[in-house]
Order: sequence, then structure tokens, then C-alpha cells
Amino acid sequence: MRNQQRKSKASRAIACECGGELRPAKFDGYDFSDYVGLNVTVSNVDGFKCTKCGGETVDGSLVNLVMNYTIMQVAKSPRRLNGGEARYLRRTLHATQEELAEKMGIDRVTVADWERGANPISPQHDYILRGFALGWMLAGNLITPECMVEILGTVFKAVRRELPKKGTPSIALPDPNVMRKLMPPRGEMVACA
Ligand SMILES: [Zn+2]
Repeated sequence: MRNQQRKSKASRAIACECGGELRPAKFDGYDFSDYVGLNVTVSNVDGFKCTKCGGETVDGSLVNLVMNYTIMQVAKSPRRLNGGEARYLRRTLHATQEELAEKMGIDRVTVADWERGANPISPQHDYILRGFALGWMLAGNLITPECMVEILGTVFKAVRRELPKKGTPSIALPDPNVMRKLMPPRGEMVACA
């Protein structure tokens, strides 16, 4: 019975925009940069490939998982945030540059300068921004309070010394099954991944 269900689910035809059919496929290194806005790749990804145009796609729940896991990885980075990372954390908060600047008591131009790489973010603002993003995850039950404390306790020393990397460094996330275990949907993280 169980097998039958799985089979019928797998063979259900999903239409591609081009009119072709999306078939289940395995991707070794799936590029999530279009979704995340950062250079994020994930190996061993289950998705779909179109029989006609060759277009590749993945499930929306996986995109969510990757986006949340990326927040965690960025918040844990042992060097100052670069422009793209600062922008990513701000967007996590659904805040405009203006709104974030106001929360931090600074000028919008300062935020814009970090994000386009004109000036590095200060260690203090880097730390506050990570705190906001982790607080957002905490409110959504995506991390435990202990995990937040652990991350913030570790990063401040590092971000005072290490400036951001130039360009867009790539972020390789673990296998989706590993991420799902550490960050189950609708539950608190099991471990501080
Ligand atoms: Zn197609």
C-alpha cells in the first residue's frame, strides 16, 4: 500500500511552463543563487527536470529550508558580513534600508554603503544585524534560545578582526536530508547546526 502510494506520487505528471513534463531528477550541485541572492549551492538535491526544455526545478519547501539554513550560516560566519550577506539578513527581516537604519539609529546611506560594498559594516552593526536575524529565527521557532546565545557568543570576537571577503564567496550547504534533520519544519532545531 505504502509502495503504491509512493509510486503514484512519483509518476504523477507535472506540467512545465513550456508544455513539457517535469520528471523527478537528482542534482549533484543545485544552484540556489536565484532564490537566495547569494552564491548558495546544495549537493544531492531531489528535484524535477523538464522532458522538453531541460529546465530544472525544486520543491518550494526545499527552497524555504535552504533560505533558513543560509541565514544560520551567514549569522555564524567568522568574519565581517559582506554586502550581499548584510542585504540577505536585512531582507530576512522584511525591512527596507530605511527601516533597518532607523532600528539601529543610523543613516540609510550607511546601510546602502555596506550593501554595495562601498564601506565595510562596523563590528557593532554587524553584530546587531546578526542578532536581529537570529531573533527572527527564534520567533519562528527555527532555532532554540541556547543556539542563538551560542552563536552570538562566538561571533563577536571574530567580526572585530576579520573584514568581509571581497566578491561573492560561495556557500556550500549540506545535503538536504542533513538540513532537514537539524532544522525540521515547524519545530525547533535539534542542534545548533
Ligand atoms: Zn519545460
